[in-house]
Amino acid sequence: MTTPLTAADLPQERRLVTAIPGPKSAELQARRTSAVSAGVGATLPVYVEAAGGGVIVDIDGNSLIDLGSGIAVTSVGNSAPKVVAAVQEQVARFTHTCFMVTSYAGYVEVCEALNRLTPGDHEKRSALFNSGAEAVENAVKIARAYTKRQAVVVFEHGYHGRTNLTMAMTAKNMPYKQSFGPFANEIYRVPLSYPFHDGNKDGAKAAAEAISRIDKEIGADNVAAIVIEPIAGEGGFIVPAAGFLPALVDFARANGIVFVADEIQTGFCRTGAWFACEHEGVVPDLITTAKGIAGGLPLAAVTGRAEIMDAVHAGGLGGTYGGNPVACAAALGSIAEMEEHDLTAAAQRIESVMKPRLQTIADKTGVIGDIRGRGAMIAVEIVKPGTDEPDAALTAAIAKACHAQGVVVLTAGTYGNVLRFLPPLVIPDALLDEALTVLEEQFLAQTGH
Ligand SMILES: *Cc1c(COP(=O)(O)O)cnc(C)c1O
Repeated sequence: MTTPLTAADLPQERRLVTAIPGPKSAELQARRTSAVSAGVGATLPVYVEAAGGGVIVDIDGNSLIDLGSGIAVTSVGNSAPKVVAAVQEQVARFTHTCFMVTSYAGYVEVCEALNRLTPGDHEKRSALFNSGAEAVENAVKIARAYTKRQAVVVFEHGYHGRTNLTMAMTAKNMPYKQSFGPFANEIYRVPLSYPFHDGNKDGAKAAAEAISRIDKEIGADNVAAIVIEPIAGEGGFIVPAAGFLPALVDFARANGIVFVADEIQTGFCRTGAWFACEHEGVVPDLITTAKGIAGGLPLAAVTGRAEIMDAVHAGGLGGTYGGNPVACAAALGSIAEMEEHDLTAAAQRIESVMKPRLQTIADKTGVIGDIRGRGAMIAVEIVKPGTDEPDAALTAAIAKACHAQGVVVLTAGTYGNVLRFLPPLVIPDALLDEALTVLEEQFLAQTGH
């Protein structure tokens, strides 16, 4: 009998023993095609046996370097020790009671941790849900109940989920919205500061344009919430110009509008701060979190000002599984890992390693128009040389070539021309270095250098 692989045992190396995908993965892929809805996509067709640190090991024995973290989720690493211990202990005691029926300490402790860790030292409350989209939906419910207004302002390039309300809030049609309408109403989209494509417009000026649209087309008095990602994630890791977010916050405060930071992708040390709002000194009224919160278990939250969070009638918020005890245990384990290993500093170190290496690739190939992001949320925008014209085909080709070489990278962006990097914050230095070498080789090969 072979002992099962666990995350703690995994050699931190890139190792290819078959083509990608190997025969066992190919067999499962065939079974998938006849069992799983074709509507569910996959970035690369390998099937996972174990994962931990900076690697994903597939069922053919290939060890891939992980620059995706399951889309910014396993920031503390897959099966991080404190997450595993907390989950094992909890799952053996009880798996579910429904917090709304008979409550348990873990839920309260996660809310206390969120109230402590999120920006601002005002009195806060939290509520827990299952997915990011559900957190965004609830932030909108709470803001509408508090303000007794209906309109919700969102931004170009924004992503907020795939439920009906959050599809309406998400900007990009393909693949998120195509043929799924009609969408929820009272959602209004205004321009985002996008320095690479708006001629490096000043942040305050870009905000003034967005605010003018709100005033003229919606009326500030009708707006319940402004919902924005401090760095647009699926939109392509767009970092708004300095001053953009603070100007929106000032406008929201002056007009009784709830300012909601969607930190589902940026939260929990990912950008080199606990939350990305901190880079701009912004204190949101409400903040939505999910992805990085619980080391891979499904959990999401809305955290914010007590008077807003408490404005909802008793019983108005909830859900059968929201704040499941096993997911709460995982979150507490995950937060302990982040604090103990200073993962904000780890994210900053990853940025300082990646940006110069990406600049070298840009200099050698001429196809990288912009290198951006913060911490371990870094992206390159790929263009036709010397222009800002997107090159989605080259982006896809480079991603595919990296996958074949055992490096998991993700694409993003409204124009499909962004390669984004979201390594686990615990990735060993040598592995990150090797991944960047593979990336450079594939950039050179795909651009004929
Ligand atoms: C992923 C994401 C969501 C949706 O989260 P799910 O858990 O997939 O529903 C919402 N907002 C942002 C910014 C995200 O990155």
